[in-house]
Amino acid sequence: MTRRLLIAGNWKMHGSVEMTTDLISGIARAALETATLSEQRELAYDILVCPPSVYIPAAVKAADSQPIRVGAQNAHAKSQGAYTGEVALEMLSELGCDYVLLGHSERREIFSETDDEVASKFAACCENGSMVPVLCVGETLAQRQQGQTETIVAAQIDAVLDKVGIAGFSKAVIAYEPVWAIGTGETATPEQAQAVHAFIRAKLAELDADVANALRILYGGSMKAENAADLLGQPDIDGGLIGGASLKVESFAAICDAAHVLALS
Ligand code: PEP
Repeated sequence: MTRRLLIAGNWKMHGSVEMTTDLISGIARAALETATLSEQRELAYDILVCPPSVYIPAAVKAADSQPIRVGAQNAHAKSQGAYTGEVALEMLSELGCDYVLLGHSERREIFSETDDEVASKFAACCENGSMVPVLCVGETLAQRQQGQTETIVAAQIDAVLDKVGIAGFSKAVIAYEPVWAIGTGETATPEQAQAVHAFIRAKLAELDADVANALRILYGGSMKAENAADLLGQPDIDGGLIGGASLKVESFAAICDAAHVLALS
């Protein structure tokens, strides 16, 4: 099965209204230029940007009629209530978000989100039905060194399966992001990443082969122009979730170009 590559930018807590507008129009211009040069009328892959929530309206406006979708970086599982400072899935969807990152390692580590809380958000997203959840999973360096990578990733996915079953992954994306590779400049080798991606797909295929085959599994962790083609060229890597390199048109567009070339090959 051919899965359409998804190149997603996680801007974290960076930006401004001006940067949002400039970055999105710059990415669209660069991506479409490459597509035109390759005589493709449309992009051969998908682009997603996830700005800070306050910039979502500016992002949706800038992405209007461009081949770029907008996502959020987090959401609360409840649809409303006394949760000061939180944002509901419904609110993000109303603003025009199509995707939402859930369980990013910075949410898990800095804000102490548990597997169960992340799974509750995922379940709420499935119930709401208006956005695609991007479930972020991954092990720390210590866990990898202790040989626990698969156990940790499996537990993060099992927490979600317990709440929504395999059907919950029929309209979802998983991002495998080894914590030791996020923002460190250190990247998993294509072989290391492929091994975990294959593990995730095989695990889900035990429950439903069709869902597992259609599921896009992104790699995240210091992806950049120099390593994108090798990572994206792996059979079970269906795109990238990119932090640092998503903040500049040049570096993000270079990864997009790598996806375009691979998609056409
Ligand atoms: C991320 O924040 O999801 C990420 C992968 O960051 P970076 O690309 O900077 O490692």
